[in-house]
Amino acid sequence: MEKEKLAIHGGKPVRDSKIFYGRQWIDDDDVSAVAEVLKSDYLTCGPTVTALEKHLCEVTGAKYAVSVSNGTAALHCACIAAGLGEGDEVITTSLTFAASANCAVYVGATPVFADVDPETYNIDPDSIEAHITDKTKAVVAVDFTGQAVEHDRIRAICEKHNLIYIVDAAHAIGTKYKGQPEGSIGDMTCFSFHPVKTITSGEGGAITTNDPELYKKLHLASQHGIVRDPSEFKFGEGEGPWYYEMQTLGFNYRMTDFQAALLNSQLRKLQKFSDRRREIVKRYNEAFADVPEIIVQKEIPESETTRHLYIIQLDLDKLTCTRKEFFEAMSAENVQCQVHYVPVYYFPFYEEKGYKRGLCPNAEKIYEGIMSIPLYPKLTDAEVEDTIKAVKKIVDWYRK
Ligand SMILES: *Cc1c(COP(=O)(O)O)cnc(C)c1O
Repeated sequence: MEKEKLAIHGGKPVRDSKIFYGRQWIDDDDVSAVAEVLKSDYLTCGPTVTALEKHLCEVTGAKYAVSVSNGTAALHCACIAAGLGEGDEVITTSLTFAASANCAVYVGATPVFADVDPETYNIDPDSIEAHITDKTKAVVAVDFTGQAVEHDRIRAICEKHNLIYIVDAAHAIGTKYKGQPEGSIGDMTCFSFHPVKTITSGEGGAITTNDPELYKKLHLASQHGIVRDPSEFKFGEGEGPWYYEMQTLGFNYRMTDFQAALLNSQLRKLQKFSDRRREIVKRYNEAFADVPEIIVQKEIPESETTRHLYIIQLDLDKLTCTRKEFFEAMSAENVQCQVHYVPVYYFPFYEEKGYKRGLCPNAEKIYEGIMSIPLYPKLTDAEVEDTIKAVKKIVDWYRK
């Protein structure tokens, strides 16, 4: 059979307009919710933020939620609340966005990279255990692409070695592990609400916890270290009604009320968004089941996953192209992919600190062959089919 000429070689692309790997879905309800707050008395520090935090507790099953300006701020606050500092080691994964490791550096601690499972791409509990030293104080585990990590095993390791368990669930709002929602499993769970994530507030983040002491610290870390409740003042007796008290060095990581309004409105659609994401994942899984050149991420039965990313891994031994050529061919077909992620320690910042390639062989091998294809709730069935068509067309062309 004649092979269909790729767009990158001058053939006709599978689609006329470009689609991207991820994007938000904002409807009229969202717009009205934001507009209402914009016309109200409080643009920040108001009742909508409080309502959002309550809503986040309901969705995650956590006792406390602190909203912040973005997911990176959430991770930074979690590291502060965990009391991490100079000389401490924090074990995380390298197959993640840099922020999962950077948060340790922000507080003077040292990120240590554990390897991932070659099939699920999630941090491997055995590798966590292998990297524990006297200095290890915390684990930052990432629910990669939205799939829950092996919480039971990681929590047991953390308990055994007295480590704080931080979950980076930037990908995973809406995911459940053995029926329990992300947000109430680790000591602290961090979320991101960037527009490519499952629900968005433009920029935004949150940390959830069940621990009242951690909650207090998270609150201080995100709000200048300032306390407003007189019963908690250390000094200030008699200063006057204007007095508030700065007790620790915190940051201004507040989310605004109009962002909170947007997120509240988006949270109401989380189930709908999750269902649509699952439907698309199912369709992709079916479509690639008979394509041996494409390896798909293994799903564990414990995770009821709201998938943030759909990753295809090319079996490069079966293809005559490189990942770069495949990626560029997808772009030419008007399906814009992305790669999640370059192993964090490949970046110059980490290389200059002495991290060497070869640290995490599984992550490095996975990185060589992966790309994320479009996955977002507003993606139409026709766009899903175009994406599948583009992948199969390029595989056919480069098949050995
Ligand atoms: C997006 C993301 C973050 C950071 O979130 P921002 O809101 O962009 O700061 C952290 N960790 C992971 C795994 C992410 O994907």
